[in-house]
Formats: sequence, structure tokens, C-alpha cells
Amino acid sequence: MSRGIEAFIAGLPKAELHVHHVGSASPRVVAALAARYEGRTAVPADPEALAEYFTFTDFAHFIQVYLSVVDLIRDAEDVRALTYGVAEDMARQQIRYAELTVTPYSSVRRGIPDVAFMEAIEDARKSAERDFGVVLRWCFDIPGEAGLVSAEETARLALDVGAEGLVSFGLGGPEIGVPRPQFKPYFDRARAAGLHSVPHAGESTGPETVWDALRVLGAERIGHGTQSVKDPALMDYLGEHRIPLEVCPTSNLATRVVERIEEHPIRQMVDAGLLVTVNSDDPPMFGTDLNTEYAVAAKLLGLDAAGVAGLARNSVEASFLDQGGKTRLTGEIDAYLAGWERR
Ligand SMILES: [Zn+2]
Repeated sequence: MSRGIEAFIAGLPKAELHVHHVGSASPRVVAALAARYEGRTAVPADPEALAEYFTFTDFAHFIQVYLSVVDLIRDAEDVRALTYGVAEDMARQQIRYAELTVTPYSSVRRGIPDVAFMEAIEDARKSAERDFGVVLRWCFDIPGEAGLVSAEETARLALDVGAEGLVSFGLGGPEIGVPRPQFKPYFDRARAAGLHSVPHAGESTGPETVWDALRVLGAERIGHGTQSVKDPALMDYLGEHRIPLEVCPTSNLATRVVERIEEHPIRQMVDAGLLVTVNSDDPPMFGTDLNTEYAVAAKLLGLDAAGVAGLARNSVEASFLDQGGKTRLTGEIDAYLAGWERR
């Protein structure tokens, strides 16, 4: 790949639709959190030592590091600092709009009062928009592995406590042993209250999980959906109904959903005419960021600048931004491309 496309991507205005709150904490953000708990955490507060700490040996190690970062989110100020820091890192990548997947259940269960939690993310959202021009919206997700108790609590936090920036309701965690249909009542309630349905599906289990997400949970977008390519009828359905897929290439490699990046089915998805969006999932934890994911996708798909701008437009189209916001951001992308091509 030419260096040119990387420079193009670095300046390209972008939206991100599949990225997790705690999983977005960069070594810089984690160092600041760790410094608050010096002597009471195994996480180093020195950025260089942290970079070492963030070098994963295997997936079990990733989980261990992820949980040690979760352990640094102990009060509402930590939540605010994390969210604001994540937005600052997004601004550096020219991310203008992000739907950030937040798992409020984890923080509230650990003792952060629900109202304080919501105030913290909302304060960070407003500050980030004012200071960096990054517009944040929330997807509250059920941590599937924590069962129906967490589903009930996430529905309560979304619908009874709520947050101004909340737009969607999700479902994350492992898919194996966590059937999607059991979460139907919670998705029904969330959808009735006007939230969009965006469950993870077809990441580590097959296309039937994507069907469940569509038919039972009313999914409007699919988190990952990597395995959809195994079912031609599903591919037709996704195409016909223009259901976007939130594709996260490096994440799929890190979690061994694909063995080699060259085997990633993004090409089949695009060739089938699906609305493919490119995302980073848990970027620092997977040693990536959104710009890198765009570069990976550009290489896999053989895209030039105009093609990459098309990917960026897909994310705007698939987002839950209002029409005015979509028109503005698409206009920014088009203007950037036109400027690039005039050089
Ligand atoms: Zn995810």
C-alpha cells in the first residue's frame, strides 16, 4: 500500500459505530487512571511500562489486561476521565462522531451510583463536543455473560435512569453458550422506548445467531456479523434490507475469528453489496485504532482514496445521526476527498 492512502486516512473525517468504552482506553488514558491508584493497582502508571503491559501474549492475557483496566474505573471521576480521554484520542484520528458502547452494568455493580455514572458520561460527552468537536452518542449494552440479571439492570439503567446521548441498546460478551433469544423482552422494551437495536452477532458463532438478532431482537445493525458470509440467504436479506455490518478486522484476527487477516470475509461482504462499516472494537487492546482499521480494509479491498471515502460515507449512512448531521458529515468527507484529488 502506498504511504499516500495512510496520509489520506489520517486526515479523513470519520464516524465510528462499534467501539467499546473501557476497551478504548489508550495507554495514555490508562496511565492517568493508574496514577490515581498508585500502590493499589498492578497497572503501571508510567506510559512506557504500560506499552509493555499492553503487549498481549494471547487472548487470555488480553482478558486479564482488560479486567485490570476495568478495575481502575472505581468512581464517577474515573468514568468521566476515561470518557473524555477516549474522545480526545478520537479527535486526533479525525473521528467526528462515535456511537460508543458503554456497559453501565459493570460500573454500577462495582458501586458507582447510577445517577453519578450517567452524569459523568454526559459531562464528558458535552465537554468533548465543546473542546474537540467530537460528537458522542451511547449504546448501552448487556454483558451477555452476566446473564439475565445484567439484562434487567441494563434495561433499567437505559430506560429508567437514562442519559441524554443514549441512542441504542446492545448485547456484547461471548456468543457461545449465550443464546440471543433469551434477551428478547429487554430488547422489546428498549425498542418500544425508541432505542435502536444493535446486538453483536455472528462474531464467534454462525449465521443463525445473526438471524436470531434480526428476527428476535429486531437488530437494525449487526455488531461484527463476520459469519454471515456462510449463509447466502442471510447475505441476500442483509443486502435487501440494507442492514449494516459493523466490521472490525483486527479484532477478528486478535480473537481468532479469522486465522489470517487475508482470510477476512470483508471482500465477500462488499462484493455482495452489503453496507459495510469499518470499526476498531477495543482498539488499544488489539494494538490498533480506527485509522489502522481503514488502512487494513483499504488493503484487503484494494481501495484508492475515493474508495476509502466511500467506506467513511457508509458509516455515516449506517449511523443514528439525524439527517442534518449526516448531510454535514458526508459533506465534510466529500470536501476532503475533492481537496485531496486536487493536490
Ligand atoms: Zn464489540
